Amino acid sequence: MSAEEFKSPSFWFSDLDAPVEPRAPLEGDGQFDVAIVGAGYTGLWTAYYLNQREPGCRIAVVEAETAGFGASGRNGGWCAYYYSGIESLLTDPNKRERGLALQRAMFDAVDEVGRASTASGVDCDYAKGGVLIAGRSQPELERLRTAYGEMRGYGFAEEDFRWLDANAFAERARIRGALGGIFSPHCAALQPAKLARGLASFIEARGVVVFEQSPVRTIEKGALTTDRGRIRADNVLRCTEGYSCRLPGLERAILPLHSMMVATEPLPEAVWKEIGLQGRPTFADHRRTVTYGQRTADDRLAFGTRGLYYYGSGIRDYFDPGDPAFSHTHATLLEFFPSLSDVEITHRWGGALGVTRDWMPFIQFDARTGLGAVGGYAGNGVAATNLAGRTLAELVLRETTERTSFAWVNHPSRKWEPEPLRWLGSQGVRRMGEWADAAEQKGRHAGIFGSIFDAFASH
Ligand SMILES: Cc1cc2nc3c(=O)[nH]c(=O)nc-3n(C[C@H](O)[C@H](O)[C@H](O)COP(=O)(O)OP(=O)(O)OC[C@H]3O[C@@H](n4cnc5c(N)ncnc54)[C@H](O)[C@@H]3O)c2cc1C
Repeated sequence: MSAEEFKSPSFWFSDLDAPVEPRAPLEGDGQFDVAIVGAGYTGLWTAYYLNQREPGCRIAVVEAETAGFGASGRNGGWCAYYYSGIESLLTDPNKRERGLALQRAMFDAVDEVGRASTASGVDCDYAKGGVLIAGRSQPELERLRTAYGEMRGYGFAEEDFRWLDANAFAERARIRGALGGIFSPHCAALQPAKLARGLASFIEARGVVVFEQSPVRTIEKGALTTDRGRIRADNVLRCTEGYSCRLPGLERAILPLHSMMVATEPLPEAVWKEIGLQGRPTFADHRRTVTYGQRTADDRLAFGTRGLYYYGSGIRDYFDPGDPAFSHTHATLLEFFPSLSDVEITHRWGGALGVTRDWMPFIQFDARTGLGAVGGYAGNGVAATNLAGRTLAELVLRETTERTSFAWVNHPSRKWEPEPLRWLGSQGVRRMGEWADAAEQKGRHAGIFGSIFDAFASH
């Protein structure tokens, strides 16, 4: 595939300084110490930390498409403290200490992405402006206030999570209907594809071999195979997240859920004066069906909404710009900022993220076989992949550290249901979320719909 043939997976790819020239595929046989499947952030950070710790370690990264082609080159660029499933650790007194340690490590991971990318000369437009979450109706505000109270109750400080009344919120962002909300400094906005592509180039310059256009067909103890080659390695690590269901035997391990994004044209200073977001805080409201936005380094709004599942764990890498899902995402952006109704949407894209049956990410590593796997970030992987990569590198080096004792290491999740149950369940839960959101936006409590959504969308 040449650069001309390469189709851009997202605005972020179109915004790269140079067009993507796919690297050569794996041809023939190779021998390495560590073979990593997938060049998203998980695979790249794992290679990065292994290489930092053991420069002599022979590492290959084998990618089906190009580095960053998956969620890592398409996401909303929230490098955020949040870790999917953390609530189940924090609410259980027996698990709380471990949950708190993991949460603190996630705060640090947000900074580490900035530190490591700067130290590596990877300019990914990292700006640590924090995150703003708005309550846009009374019931939404109440749920948010409860979540805030819980976090403070677990011992997190005002410096970690600050409650803002409507005026204080409006000083930072003028989101329509915001009655108040939370500010946390533990989030940076970044340009996702610049981070993925930059990391791949950096590790390659340090001796890691990156093969692109090489879908891995089988993974076994000591080896992986593609259509045109085979690598033998003592350690073989699967970092394929939402795409894992395409590999034999993993059809029900991770559910690929799609998230959809739009980006506006660059907006003039007058618009920013009106809507705020100075310092590039990321922003969302507290609806159940998820929203996320950032002000980009070139002054666009990039905004997303989540929630599409395709029958049989179908994965779509490219979308028709007329896909109705984009109308929903655009309409939601206009709910936040109605004055943008005449602003042009220049880019529309979507991508698959991976969700386990209990919505908890996992880092599996078997020191006897050298086989490892990581994933299931449930749409919260930009910072978490960094922590996961550091942890997996330590596991591969057979080290015992605080990180290797975290709750997600060797955490088992049961399989998803077979079809058609998986599809029916996902449609039903999504509808419940939409009904709950609609009720709350009218100022009513979500009632049973909200309870059902909360019970199923996180367990
Ligand atoms: C639209 C969207 C918005 C998001 N927004 C945010 C956000 O703002 N903040 C946040 O924290 N998270 C967000 N996420 C989630 C986040 O992007 C992911 O959690 C994270 O990028 C996962 O990284 P990864 O390396 O594990 O997976 P991926 O980036 O998906 O990488 C997996 C790679 O493996 C490759 N691969 C798959 N199968 C094979 C195979 N058989 N052989 C070889 N290679 C293979 C794929 O091509 C892909 O490049 C979002 C996700 C999406 C889709």
